[in-house]
Amino acid sequence: AKSVGRNTYAHYSPALEARASERLEMRNQLHHAIARNELILHYQPKVSMRTGEIIGAEALIRWNSAERGMISPAQFIPLAEESGLIVPIGEWVLRSACAQAMRWQRLGLPPMIMAVNLSPRQFRQGDLRERLRQILADTGLRPEHLELEVTESAIMENAASAIRLLGDIHDMGVHLAIDDFGTGYSSLAYLKQLPVSILKVDQSFVKGLTSEADDAAIVTAIIAMAKSLRLAVTAEGVETLEQLEALKKLGCDNYQGYFFSRPVPAGEFTALLRHTASP
Ligand code: C2E
Ligand code: CA
Ligand code: CA
Ligand code: CA
Repeated sequence: AKSVGRNTYAHYSPALEARASERLEMRNQLHHAIARNELILHYQPKVSMRTGEIIGAEALIRWNSAERGMISPAQFIPLAEESGLIVPIGEWVLRSACAQAMRWQRLGLPPMIMAVNLSPRQFRQGDLRERLRQILADTGLRPEHLELEVTESAIMENAASAIRLLGDIHDMGVHLAIDDFGTGYSSLAYLKQLPVSILKVDQSFVKGLTSEADDAAIVTAIIAMAKSLRLAVTAEGVETLEQLEALKKLGCDNYQGYFFSRPVPAGEFTALLRHTASP
């Protein structure tokens, strides 16, 4: 509290200051993480309820920091978002995930859809369309083999421009999914205007599906609504056979979760693909 007004002294505390400098240090380390090859992607299978086959993968970032060890995205994505580092990091994620999808195709494994998370800030980035086009051109991945996951809140920050952007991305042939559906701002009125084809039911609802009447009601309603809007539904966070069977009964199309597999490094995912690929 140096150059700020007198009133702010009341808020000064050594603990706050320590936390601020800790964040600054982490931010500097994160800044170097790309160049130091400390970022890696893990992949979680997306599985068809009907066939039990892997139909896609969600790329999930991890930071293997020299100073701090393995750090989960819940810890550093908010920091990356706030500092703007999410833009180069997000670009790295997109490029790496597309390149990996191509590697799997070249191994002769059945083509599947690679899903990548887009943060709100990336979503507001003016040149996202061009960047996407460039990455697809550079890696050779066909747009139909890419899916972008966007949260409701990212869309609702500026619904009008989001609808235009999503429309352009959809026109390129890239699939769009709404992530964490049901947890954000209600965008039901917009839903029919959005060129998305997939709703991802948030794992918090899946968790209580077989034990809490409220969660069961929410999941039932989301799936019914998605079906009537002709959207595909992916459930996330499926951990038990009971949850899987309940979701199947409700007409859910695809699922992800520890029940099938945790997110795993590319090498392990290759083994999973080889095991479950149909001959
Ligand atoms: P998300 O997109 O909702 O991803 C799902 C999270 O649930 C992942 O956590 C995944 O590991 C975890 N998960 C999957 N199956 C289960 C399950 O059966 N049970 C439980 N308890 N958890 C499960 P993770 O990898 O720690 O990622 C957390 C969040 O960080 C993601 O939530 C996403 O919002 C963000 N994130 C991860 N990678 C990226 C990225 O490359 N870019 C951006 N912008 N955000 C990312
Ligand atoms: Ca996601
Ligand atoms: Ca999610
Ligand atoms: Ca989430």
